[in-house]
Parts: sequence; C-alpha cells; structure tokens
Amino acid sequence: MNSRDLDPALLRLLGTDEPEIDCDECFAQLDRYVELELSGAPADTHIPGLRAHLVGCPACAEEHESLRALLELDSVS
Ligand SMILES: [Zn+2]
Repeated sequence: MNSRDLDPALLRLLGTDEPEIDCDECFAQLDRYVELELSGAPADTHIPGLRAHLVGCPACAEEHESLRALLELDSVS
C-alpha cells in the first residue's frame, strides 16, 4: 500500500506510532472488539490500539480470551 495516497486523518489512525489504549478503554471496548472478531470484521481497524494493549497487558489478554470463549459458546447454542 502506498501511504502517501491515504487521507491524513486515516494516516493518524493507522499511524506508525500506533495509539495504545489503557485498561479502562480496553474493558469498555472489549465486547465490541470480540463481536467484530467473531463476525470476521477487521476489529483492529475499528478499534485501533486494543490489539496492542492485549499484547502488553496479560490481565486484559486473559479477559479477552474468556470473553471470546463465552461468545463463541453463545453463537453455537
Ligand atoms: Zn489492560
């Protein structure tokens, strides 16, 4: 992809210095993030920074795993 063709506002979103959210923001967005993931949507595009946070935060990564397992169970029943 040629980044010079992108809108500056979008570039800031995608930016090289990816915005990392904090735990509060992570918890607030986690439901939506998992739903997007399970529906096959580009969750990282919709909620920038969450993936980066999960990588660096074991507590939220664990919350993400259990929420995801829960919603996966929900979707089959
Ligand atoms: Zn966290």
